Amino acid sequence: MTTPITIPAPPKVGMVSLGCPKALVDSERILTKLRAEGYQMSADYAGADVVLVNTCGFLDSAKEESLEAIGEAMAENGRVIVTGCMGNEADVIRARFPDVLAITGAHQYEDVVQAVHDAAPPARGAFIDLVPEGGIKLTPRHYSYLKISEGCNHRCSFCIIPSLRGDLASRRIDAVLREAEKLVAAGTRELLVISQDTSAYGVDTRHEPRAWKGRDVRAHMTDLARELGGLRTPEGKAPWVRLHYVYPYPHVDQVIPLMADGLLTPYLDIPFQHAAPAVLKRMKRPANEAKVLDRIKAWRQIAPDITIRSSFVVGFPGETEADFQYLLDWLDEAQLDRVGGFRFEPVEGAAANLLPDPVPEAVKEERYQRLMEKTAAISAAKLAAKVGRTLPVIIDEVGEPDEEDGSVGATGRSQADAPEIDGHVYLRDVPEGLAPGSFVDVLVEDADEHDLYGVIAG
Ligand code: SF4
Repeated sequence: MTTPITIPAPPKVGMVSLGCPKALVDSERILTKLRAEGYQMSADYAGADVVLVNTCGFLDSAKEESLEAIGEAMAENGRVIVTGCMGNEADVIRARFPDVLAITGAHQYEDVVQAVHDAAPPARGAFIDLVPEGGIKLTPRHYSYLKISEGCNHRCSFCIIPSLRGDLASRRIDAVLREAEKLVAAGTRELLVISQDTSAYGVDTRHEPRAWKGRDVRAHMTDLARELGGLRTPEGKAPWVRLHYVYPYPHVDQVIPLMADGLLTPYLDIPFQHAAPAVLKRMKRPANEAKVLDRIKAWRQIAPDITIRSSFVVGFPGETEADFQYLLDWLDEAQLDRVGGFRFEPVEGAAANLLPDPVPEAVKEERYQRLMEKTAAISAAKLAAKVGRTLPVIIDEVGEPDEEDGSVGATGRSQADAPEIDGHVYLRDVPEGLAPGSFVDVLVEDADEHDLYGVIAG
């Protein structure tokens, strides 16, 4: 039998934030990023693997307060990273605390996140990651992952997240919305909502309402989506809001009209993992119900442009050829837009390791190839149908012409493409002033299996 993969416990970060609202925005961004990468926040210094001190250096009294905070963190923990305005006076800090791990200046949050990675590397693994490998590096400022809860109430047999992270613990809705508002004010144009189980948001707090902008808002996915859709960038534009890790509970139907109304990006990331009832039962998957295909059809009637992304595991113990064929036939019906495939691998401590009838590696591989062929063909047909249409696109990169990938200087994404995991829209012309984070309308001229190519619509 394959040796199970071992997944380490997530590192814990302590943080103290001093200073003005701008410093607070930096702290929020850093915490948003770390949370998305699976770091846990420590309520005290002693329990943290590393402590971040976001300092203020505006007045002498503020400097002294910052130095005291660093001193306290050094005394109680000893593994300290300093950031913020006082970071510009690294010599003063080093003279007093030569052992601080790293010092970075104000608004250099990418450097801080890197320093945290160096001091306490994130726990990585395909089975626990909510953020793709590329996204863990330096998320550009124009999109941000917004983590709404920790843990999970389910017990899928291949997964050990509940034993690592505990049961579902939802963040307060007002805290999530405040964080989102600050991110959008600071340059985020696309919010990627993540958690282990986004549609279960607030179940643990009985959807406790909190006051937000003078009214009560429930900790519920629908309310969250509606409020996020009402945010505005400093230029008065609505940010894109993308929901990831949504299980198809009945109330997911409520967010589809928000997509039709333009409040929510018409995109759902639903990790189905399989379609065959016998496999889903052994996987102990949530919201495993027979009517999903009918609901997908109904969603497409309400929001015809909805993109559905999913991932599937092949070679789960006991998966027969008939089960696998069921999955392929199901995909023919479901016509999912984007699909990621995985070959089953045991994770140390997971209940699935005890299941009988492991699938031989060669069979897993063969099924994986067949799955990928099927889904690539569906994707290519779906993208070909977009040729000739004008689509809104967010720009990720503006660079030099690249003959190889067919792009002529700018790469963006349509609403059907989440960063890092889906396709791109390559622009063949680049107007003056185009910058990452810009929204443009693109006339699609060509398509291949995963990407689109086009020009700015005139
Ligand atoms: S829903 Fe299942 S796979 Fe996802 S975190 Fe919970 S137990 Fe793990």
